Amino acid sequence: MSSPPFRIGFGFDAHEFGDRGSLVLGGLRFKGLPALAGHSDGDALLHALIDALLGAAGLGDIGDFFPDTAKRYKGISSLKLLKRVLDRVLRKGFKPGQVDVTVMADRPRLTPVKKRMRALLARHLKIPVDLISIKAKTSEGTRLVSLRGGVAVWALATLVPRREGRS
Ligand code: MG
Repeated sequence: MSSPPFRIGFGFDAHEFGDRGSLVLGGLRFKGLPALAGHSDGDALLHALIDALLGAAGLGDIGDFFPDTAKRYKGISSLKLLKRVLDRVLRKGFKPGQVDVTVMADRPRLTPVKKRMRALLARHLKIPVDLISIKAKTSEGTRLVSLRGGVAVWALATLVPRREGRS
C-alpha cells in the first residue's frame, strides 16, 4: 500500500480570559489584556496548532503529551510545547507542510499583528512564511466564544515526509 503524499491534521482549542497576567497568543504577548485561563500560558492558537500537528502524525493529542495535572507544565510557554511536538513529528519522519489557522476573538484585534505572528510560526516550524495562514474573525456578537470573552482557534496542518539527508 502506498502512503499518501501528505497527511492532514485538525485541531481546535478555546480558552476564556482569566483575571491576571498578560495575554499570550500565537507566541506573541499582548499588553493590556489578561492571560487566557489555562494550565500553561493558555495560548489557544498554539494548542490548536499542536493538536493539528499531532493529529496529522497520528500521535494523539496535546493532553497525552502535556497533561494539565502535571506541575512541570504550569505556566510553561506553549512555544516550548510546540518545539517538543515538532521534534517528535520530525523523529517520526515528517515535517510541516502547510498551516491554516482561524482565530475567533473580539479582542485583541489581530489584523495588525498577523504578519508578525506568521513570521514567528514560520521560524518555529522551519517552513517558509507563505505556507502559514492566519485568519482573524470576531464573534460578531454571537457570544460563541464565551460570556466572559475568550479566544477560540481552529487549525489545520499538513505534514509531508522528510527526505533522508536533506531536511
Ligand atoms: Mg488549551
